[in-house]
Amino acid sequence: MKETIYTIPINAAFESAAQDGLCPVCSLHRGLEADSLEYILGAAMMEPDVRRETNRLGFCARHWEKMLAAQKRLPLALVTQSHLAELARNPQAKLADFESCYLCARVGAFLGRYYANIIYLWQSSPEFGRLFDSVPAICLRHSAGLVRCAKTALPKKESARFIKSMSARAEKSLSALHESVSVFCRSFDHRFANEELGEHKHSIERAAAYLVGEKL
Ligand SMILES: [Zn+2]
Ligand SMILES: [Zn+2]
Repeated sequence: MKETIYTIPINAAFESAAQDGLCPVCSLHRGLEADSLEYILGAAMMEPDVRRETNRLGFCARHWEKMLAAQKRLPLALVTQSHLAELARNPQAKLADFESCYLCARVGAFLGRYYANIIYLWQSSPEFGRLFDSVPAICLRHSAGLVRCAKTALPKKESARFIKSMSARAEKSLSALHESVSVFCRSFDHRFANEELGEHKHSIERAAAYLVGEKL
C-alpha cells in the first residue's frame, strides 16, 4: 500500500486512543496543526510558492493567535509584510472571502488524507477494523469528517455499513454525555446538593471536547 506513511501514525493514534479513551483523530489533527505551524514559521516561509499562497489566503483568527503565541517574530513579520503588500494591491480577494486561511487549507488537505486512509484501513484490514471498534470515542467533528469521506471513498453498501456504525457510536456517546451533563445540572438543585459529583464535574468540558474536538 503506497500510503504506508499514513498508516503508521494512524495505527499509533488508534492504539493510544483505545487506552486513553480520547478521540484518535483529534490527536492526528493536533499533530498536523503543530507541524503546519512549525512549517510556516520555519524554512517554508522563504519558499516563493508557499509565500504566494500565504499572501493570497492569509490566516484565520485562530491561526493568527497560534502564530503570535509561537514567538517567531521575524519569520512572522516577513510573512505579514508581504501578505499586507498583496492585500493592499488587491483587497477585493479578502473582502470576497474573509475566511480563507493558508493553515486551515493545509491542515484540511492532510486531514483529508488521514480520513481516506482510515476508511481504506477500515475496509481492507480486519485487524484495523477491530482496533477501530475498540476505540471508545471519536468526536463528532471527526466522525462527520469520516462519514463525509466514506460517502465518496466506499462502495454504496460498505459506505452504508460505515455510516450506520458511526451513527450508533455517536448515539452512544451523546446519550452518555447527556446523562452526565444532566447529573451536573441537577447538582445546582439544593435537594441534590450533597450528592458526590465525581467525574460529572467536568461533564461540560467533556461535552465540548466531544462536540467540536479536543483542544483544536
Ligand atoms: Zn476528534
Ligand atoms: Zn486557519
